[in-house]
Amino acid sequence: MPPRPTAASANIDTENFDAIIVGAGQAGPGIAARCSREGLKTALIERHHFGGTCVNVGCVPTKTLVDSARSVRLAQRGAEFARVRQLRT
Ligand SMILES: Cc1cc2nc3c(=O)[nH]c(=O)nc-3n(C[C@H](O)[C@H](O)[C@H](O)COP(=O)(O)OP(=O)(O)OC[C@H]3O[C@@H](n4cnc5c(N)ncnc54)[C@H](O)[C@@H]3O)c2cc1C
Repeated sequence: MPPRPTAASANIDTENFDAIIVGAGQAGPGIAARCSREGLKTALIERHHFGGTCVNVGCVPTKTLVDSARSVRLAQRGAEFARVRQLRT
């Protein structure tokens, strides 16, 4: 098996860190900030969207969809709350 190329043999610039945090979701940026405050040279790596699951696909979009669905359902039940007349457009 041929030897694995190293960063040096591949002529890639390298940099050393005291701490490398993988993932910039809920947890990553806070840990990175703490490491940085402690004086550690810190890298934060994110492969997809900064903010992670909660902001991009989890909590926030879910709440938006649920709230939109609730609003539509409430509008559909309008006749239960008051007389509803079709408006001409
Ligand atoms: C549909 C849904 C609804 C939710 N609703 C709520 C809610 O209402 N309230 C609540 O408290 N929690 C909710 N959660 C849970 C919440 O989203 C998670 O608890 C939280 O996001 C976890 O944070 P984390 O930093 O551990 O991981 P994540 O936010 O998932 O972040 C991990 C990050 O690491 C990155 N990553 C992974 N592997 C690598 C790699 N090899 N290299 C580089 N980057 C990498 C990912 O791209 C991602 O950005 C919900 C989750 C989902 C799926």
